[in-house]
Amino acid sequence: MTQTDAPADAIAMFYAHAIALENEAAERYRELADQMEAHHNEGAKRLFRWLAGLEAEHASELQRKAEGMTLPRLKPWEYRWVDEEAPESASFDTVHYLMTARHALEVALTNERRAREFFERYAESAEHPEVKRLATEMAMDEAEHERYVRRALDRVDETDAHWDLDLDPPQTAE
Ligand code: ZN
Repeated sequence: MTQTDAPADAIAMFYAHAIALENEAAERYRELADQMEAHHNEGAKRLFRWLAGLEAEHASELQRKAEGMTLPRLKPWEYRWVDEEAPESASFDTVHYLMTARHALEVALTNERRAREFFERYAESAEHPEVKRLATEMAMDEAEHERYVRRALDRVDETDAHWDLDLDPPQTAE
């Protein structure tokens, strides 16, 4: 992550990171939803579609706020949702068809935590109050996603045999 001294640049840099991260997350959730659909796992599919929608909504909201700014172009490793070093990343290519709902939720949880930590770190190191505020806001949203996924995980057992279909996440007042 690179932060510069000029407030406008720092804000644009923040938006570039946040938009890229949210878009990436939305895409990953769509993939997870497709996999759960292939497994006829209705509950997990619905949860991931809902989360994909949340992240995509965030991305376009950020995009709107950043309108008129010149955003720096980032390399994928500057915002990647899934850490290339992490074992979880394998789940997206090699073990696709073996993925259970529990596994999918664990991948999601890991990545929501990373997203939260990313924004927390960003907020901590930000020199400009506006960037600090924006990053803190994002970190709080990610913490909320983390809670949804954790709650779903609490309801799915090891074998996926008793996946709870009643996973409708609460409506957020946004
Ligand atoms: Zn999230």
